[in-house]
Amino acid sequence: MKKIVLASQSPRRAEILKKAGYYFVSFPVFISEIPNENLSLDEQIIDIAKRKALACLDLCPDKNPSNIILASDTMVCLENSAIGKPENEQDAFDTLKKLSGKMHEVKTAIILLDQGAGQSGPEVTSHIETSQVFFKNLRDEDIWDYIKTGEPMDKAGSYAIQGLGGKFVEKFVGDYNNVVGLPLSALEKIFTSKNWSFEKSALSQIKAKLNADQHLLAVSKLQPLEKIRELVSQGQKAFGENYIQEALEKIEALKDLNLEWHLIGPIQKNKVKYLKNNFAYLHAIDSLELAELVSKKASEIGHVQKVFIQVNLANEATKAGFDESSVLAAWDKLTQLAHIKIVGLMTMPPLQNQALDNQVHFKKLKTLADRLQVKELSMGTSHDYEVALKEGATWIRIGTVLFGERQKVK
Ligand SMILES: *Cc1c(COP(=O)(O)O)cnc(C)c1O
Repeated sequence: MKKIVLASQSPRRAEILKKAGYYFVSFPVFISEIPNENLSLDEQIIDIAKRKALACLDLCPDKNPSNIILASDTMVCLENSAIGKPENEQDAFDTLKKLSGKMHEVKTAIILLDQGAGQSGPEVTSHIETSQVFFKNLRDEDIWDYIKTGEPMDKAGSYAIQGLGGKFVEKFVGDYNNVVGLPLSALEKIFTSKNWSFEKSALSQIKAKLNADQHLLAVSKLQPLEKIRELVSQGQKAFGENYIQEALEKIEALKDLNLEWHLIGPIQKNKVKYLKNNFAYLHAIDSLELAELVSKKASEIGHVQKVFIQVNLANEATKAGFDESSVLAAWDKLTQLAHIKIVGLMTMPPLQNQALDNQVHFKKLKTLADRLQVKELSMGTSHDYEVALKEGATWIRIGTVLFGERQKVK
């Protein structure tokens, strides 16, 4: 396993790597970024990235041969000349005025130093990635409004595509991450061609197994807020909670993050009053009576609540809720409730089962959903999600594998 040492202080590059699931250490270096005018534009950018990489190699105390030093440099180029960071607000204005209505290029050079390879010094790999960005025609007052936000002042080209500056962009061609500052897909191609493997986060490993219709719900019940924040920083948005009270506290504490919350646990009838439109989905509607109460509550606030109908396919005597025949019997009444929208079915097979034992339940749920003509299938947890994905799950609900063991029930 290789480890990335990121020779950069850019929070944007770190964020791209983190969201892609890499663990890395940052070792920012400070070098003169004055380009060597004797070189072509592409060579100048590669040269600056290489100086950063070599400075990192020199100064970083960690000389582990499995380290890969990653350095990069981004330039915004208009008509083949580089545009740097603005010196002041007027300079930012002049730059944006020049970019207005035109295409410009964003070039990022990456340099990789393999500390474990090479005869005399590390093996060097370099790549330069070019993307094209087309700006709309900008009005002077919109440019000034943007400058007043402060965002342009530390950005090459005086804008940030991932920020408010995104609204100036008509379209772009190439890797979006490259325009932000790190050409991730080119980088990963190099990793593959070199046969380098890296330890990756559980989140990214699970996400790599999903197709376009499949989503990951991170089940955060009985997990602390810091762990949720950590997953959010890795790019996760949808979280599932079991207990209404705990969920409402977390929703309030994390409201600045704009997360999507799902309630996946059973809902006691006396708790329905707490349901406003705080949950995007309820996964555990397990009786007609509960569905009616939820619909009534939603109608009071002019809301349509999206729900899954929970089906108990193992026919365990101990589990309440719909079994296959009772859900068919209740279906007409369920679908007539005006203030719930049934998006799909959910199941929670017996916990003691082996993953493969659950395959028959997942198959049954899929067949039932097809028959009832609903699309979403909420099925699969930490120990059996791979089987569930194979059987067509559209929402897997994963707790332990993402967060580690839960705290004990209060
Ligand atoms: C707790 C819980 C999960 C997550 O289980 P893990 O084994 O931690 O992945 C999924 N679905 C429901 C309904 C749960 O209660």
